[in-house]
Amino acid sequence: MKVSMKSCWFWIGLIILACSGLRAGEVRQEVQFPNLPGYVTLACDLHMHTVFSDGVVWPTVRVNEGWRQGLDLISLSDHIEHLPHKKDMKIKLNRSFELASASAADHGLLIARGAEITRDTPPGHFNAIFTSDNEKLNVPDFVEAVKQANEQGAFVFWNHQGWKGSEKGKWLDVHTKIYENKWLHGMEVCNGDSYFPDAHRWCLEKNLTMLGNSDIHEPDLRQKSEPANHRTMTLVFSKERTLPAMKEALLQGRTAVWWKEQVIGKKEYLEPLFKESVHLLGEPVWREKAVWLQFENRSNVDLQLKKTAGDGPAEIKLPAISTSLVKIEATPEMKSLNLQYTVANFIIEPEKGLPVAFEVNKKTATAKTAENTEP
Ligand SMILES: [Zn+2]
Ligand SMILES: [Zn+2]
Repeated sequence: MKVSMKSCWFWIGLIILACSGLRAGEVRQEVQFPNLPGYVTLACDLHMHTVFSDGVVWPTVRVNEGWRQGLDLISLSDHIEHLPHKKDMKIKLNRSFELASASAADHGLLIARGAEITRDTPPGHFNAIFTSDNEKLNVPDFVEAVKQANEQGAFVFWNHQGWKGSEKGKWLDVHTKIYENKWLHGMEVCNGDSYFPDAHRWCLEKNLTMLGNSDIHEPDLRQKSEPANHRTMTLVFSKERTLPAMKEALLQGRTAVWWKEQVIGKKEYLEPLFKESVHLLGEPVWREKAVWLQFENRSNVDLQLKKTAGDGPAEIKLPAISTSLVKIEATPEMKSLNLQYTVANFIIEPEKGLPVAFEVNKKTATAKTAENTEP
């Protein structure tokens, strides 16, 4: 059959389009948290599964989902030892990453090669991210597998610490061994719908990186990340949006976890994150018995502030990505306001919110006026 050049280019074009994994009309909506001084705030999910272990989706689908929901970095951490589809398909341990890579590049989504080292408890399940060859982690001895991952320069964390088995959640000698060798870098404080307070405490005590991941096996049908409906994810405070910079930030522990309606992290990161998220707009409006303030919340979280001392109502709610008008009871003699609150859903230790304070001075507005009216 004679094929014209024109139709030949048409088919080549179609094949390129099919390989890229891009679909016209796909829409991305950003995860919205402000940057910190010196760092960009990026959204990651470093724990998910595909048909190459016990997930039920093809690897490129994870790229579409992650890109659509505003993620910056994903890792397809298929199990090394748990392969229920191996009778139906040939499983190679690097294959899910290889299949997803081209689509991720086309979407501008970062993807890191990774795997889940899956052993009974103890020791439990561990993710190795930024590996170079997952096949080399397929060894009988657990400690050897973690060592192999580290020799490849991987970032290793303990998954869903309180999950399953009689020894579940316990810190045992095997954990001490990998920790003391500096082969364990973080822990999942949150996995899917679960929160692990012990993991949270150990991250603080042992200076491990806090992570939150979806561990998703099914398709994720969410169109975007919303305050009350988003996947569990890790916010990474990175020097730039590149794989080496993200790895550096993860190894240095510059993270926070966005889990349900809470952000969980070390105070040193939640404090600036709050500062960059919440701004007092304009001048306060002073009336005889009240002061009106406008608070802008630039984060994706509906912030819940509870009063600890000073002026202001018992509770202040600041919905995500919006500005709220707040009324503070006052007297005509008052010259300034001192608001002291705890951000109940910015968690710096188990069951402890972030303390914050605002000083609002009456003089600022009046002083300017007085200056302007001077002859
Ligand atoms: Zn697991
Ligand atoms: Zn998993």
